[in-house]
Amino acid sequence: GLEPRRGARGDARAGIHMPAIKLLQCLVGIMLAAGAARAWRPHLARRTLNPRAGIFGAAQGLPARIAAWRRMASGGGDDEITLFDKIVKGEIPADIVYQDDVALAFRDIAPQAPTHVLVIPKDRDGLSQLHKAEERHKALLGHLMYVAQEVAKQEELADSGFRVVVNDGIHGQQSVFHLHLHVLGGRQLSWPPG
Ligand code: AMP
Repeated sequence: GLEPRRGARGDARAGIHMPAIKLLQCLVGIMLAAGAARAWRPHLARRTLNPRAGIFGAAQGLPARIAAWRRMASGGGDDEITLFDKIVKGEIPADIVYQDDVALAFRDIAPQAPTHVLVIPKDRDGLSQLHKAEERHKALLGHLMYVAQEVAKQEELADSGFRVVVNDGIHGQQSVFHLHLHVLGGRQLSWPPG
């Protein structure tokens, strides 16, 4: 009749070739994805592909990377409302240790030392990250540094010493995109940082 004949040869061809085509499609997909990832973030692609880094190396810095990805997915604008804006407005509770017209200092919710205080500008004014600083921010940046040492003295860290840290971006493991100075003390801190 007119029905196409589906002989043994046809079945065999389907049996052998279909998985091969699927495998090829899969490989092309992986290559395209790897290329896109490299183009997007060359340094991350290098590190992820570095066998010495291993699975733990790849997982390192994951929270910050997720935060950065989420930030990019949500537009990544400097006018986005952060957790710290809510603390400034009193919408989220915080253990405030110092404040003036422009700066607010409160205890970190996950302290990395016996004393761990964050110093932030009340008005971020574009300073989602330190590297966004412009000439006009110089006075504010100086003020935040001044407040950091005021807080350190108030927390009785001045005699033993303390550390002031600003994390920026993915390598800096920044997770909140509202400039903040970490003031850490109350124990011997090690160097270099992890
Ligand atoms: P960074 O990782 O440098 O962006 O620092 C953000 C810091 O904010 C982390 O040390 C967090 O523990 C801290 N943090 C997050 N949420 C809160 C909160 N609700 N109150 C106080 N500190 C917080």
